[in-house]
Amino acid sequence: MSNKVELLAPAGNMEKLKMAVQYGADAVYLAGKQFGLRTASDNFTLDEMREGVAYAHAHGKKAYLTMNILAHNDSIEQVEPFVLEAAETGIDGVIVSDPGIFRIIRKVRPDLPIHISTQTSTTNWETVAFWHELGAKRIVLARELSLREIREIRERVPNVELEMFVHGAMCISYSGRCLLSNYMAGRDANQGDCAHPCRWRYRLVEEKRPGQYYPIEEDSTGTFIFNSKDLCLLPHLPDLIQSGVSSLKIEGRVKSSFYVATVVKAYREALDAWYAGNWQDVQSWLEEVGTVSNRDFTTGFLFGKPGPESHNYATSSYIRRYDFIGLVTGFDKASGRLVVEQRNHFRTGETIEVLPPKGPVVSLTLGEMYDAEGNRIEAAPHPQMKVYLAGVPPFPEYSILRRRA
Ligand code: SF4
Repeated sequence: MSNKVELLAPAGNMEKLKMAVQYGADAVYLAGKQFGLRTASDNFTLDEMREGVAYAHAHGKKAYLTMNILAHNDSIEQVEPFVLEAAETGIDGVIVSDPGIFRIIRKVRPDLPIHISTQTSTTNWETVAFWHELGAKRIVLARELSLREIREIRERVPNVELEMFVHGAMCISYSGRCLLSNYMAGRDANQGDCAHPCRWRYRLVEEKRPGQYYPIEEDSTGTFIFNSKDLCLLPHLPDLIQSGVSSLKIEGRVKSSFYVATVVKAYREALDAWYAGNWQDVQSWLEEVGTVSNRDFTTGFLFGKPGPESHNYATSSYIRRYDFIGLVTGFDKASGRLVVEQRNHFRTGETIEVLPPKGPVVSLTLGEMYDAEGNRIEAAPHPQMKVYLAGVPPFPEYSILRRRA
């Protein structure tokens, strides 16, 4: 890989993969229908994986396959045939946490680069060296490491790629190694099906008084005692680049394509600015990542153990300042109209913003609109309907139309 740090983005399905690539990711990570630790995202069939990998490669990007479940006996048998088929799609590496899966891949496809998932909770340089000696190409460090610890790991084990999370949701346990959801909802986080009960509001009930809920208060701030804010290390990218890590990862395979595009673009611009010697006030990039759903931001463990400021005690609802209303799919040269696929209702006269894959956000007021048959319409009420916008610039394909929420 180049000397520049890699920006690695989530690809929960084909559209998200393409958006990540278009908005500036250097690589994407995706899962097949098995073994991928995100059952809520669409994930990829083998044919889709082949298509997605080819799309990434055609744009000079990489695609890694996530296989980071903790496998039980009944699923371990299926690993070998799946790996052999997935390897034929051209994937650039496999992300694993289960040593059994690691062993199978080393045995049947020793040429396939292996990345050790953050689910292994690698928190020290001896563990990094351990995995490296076994043949791992890259270690995804635990989110629970400070910048000082990352620097020391880099110094002590210089010849292995290190990857770290820079943006997205945080677990209250060591990244997903948690049975809370399994116990409370029958949905196992370690099999990719977490129901996020750590974010729920808890009350106390005495068993002979059903319906009487007593508040639990850790202190006067309330009861969302496990409700971590989201990680955002964008202001600290210069420190992260200089720490010697190889890859910066954005979490969120179940997040929307709007989310993926917006966050990737902000980090892309910030990284490019730093490499161009043009690091500037980060406020505009922070505002951009704040336009899509988040639980407010924290630097997590980067500067040591997080305190109360890393938790959101007031609410577990997402903050979202903009709605995704349309996706540019082309420009109709004959009529001079921009072709947009509707994602949320919008109408003539509304002021909206356009987020193109590259370049500044543009604000505009919607003028004349037409349907696919050329009929004039005042509104775009149906999901996925094609709308033709007159009097707007020919924004590139994959540009996002958004409106203040
Ligand atoms: S319940 Fe919360 S802490 Fe546990 S795995 Fe799910 S998100 Fe992480």
